[in-house]
Amino acid sequence: CGIVGYLGFRRADGVIISALKRLEYRGYDSWGVAVRDGNEIRIIKKVGAIGDVDSYSIAGGNLGVGHTRWATHGKPSEINAHPHTDCSGKIAVVHNGIISNFQSLKEELESRGHLFKSETDTEVIAHLIEESYRGDLKEAVIEAVERLKGSYAIVALHAEKDELVAVRYKSPLVLGAGDEEWIIASDVPAILDYTNRVVYLEDGDMVVLNRDGFEVWNNGTRVERRIEMIPWSI
Ligand code: GLU
Repeated sequence: CGIVGYLGFRRADGVIISALKRLEYRGYDSWGVAVRDGNEIRIIKKVGAIGDVDSYSIAGGNLGVGHTRWATHGKPSEINAHPHTDCSGKIAVVHNGIISNFQSLKEELESRGHLFKSETDTEVIAHLIEESYRGDLKEAVIEAVERLKGSYAIVALHAEKDELVAVRYKSPLVLGAGDEEWIIASDVPAILDYTNRVVYLEDGDMVVLNRDGFEVWNNGTRVERRIEMIPWSI
């Protein structure tokens, strides 16, 4: 029930796990993190609370995504915990919300040969992105999201891209813009350890985040979103 994405200069695993801990108040039954390490993705998934942040080490990369889950489709388990991956294992996705048409999408994808690992609604997103991926993650996410019904905040990464793509519809998503680092999350407490400069994303917004900074798109057009300063005293 909380998502995090990080792109910066720190070790992503530590940043993401401590940010997820700050989102546990939203409710959780399991959690997981995916970090880009070279051109591979390393994943950790656990059932229960995070506990001691320092007891986990996944990979040395400085780009990744994480999730605390409140199960809606599929029991709480390691397999059903996010991030979810496509068949190639190159694409990792975290998602808050519900994909209400996942059953028909899953049948469609299975008929085209996709093998599903989990019982979640979320996993269809990873497979849809895989089908649309032709080297441009943003375009693939746009195409995938067009197929989705329901509510979602999603952050996606590709093992070969130094980039995160996030999108929201009827689920919250906030972007923190620090110095040479960006953290995207369901709520501000996950961000405030790193920066107080935040962008509240609007419904339908898509964020493309890379080393040059971030761009926000909505409905195929580039849009400007204001950076707000949160008082540190919160
Ligand atoms: N519907 C997704 C699941 O059950 C996401 C739940 C959540 O927002 O934590 O895995």
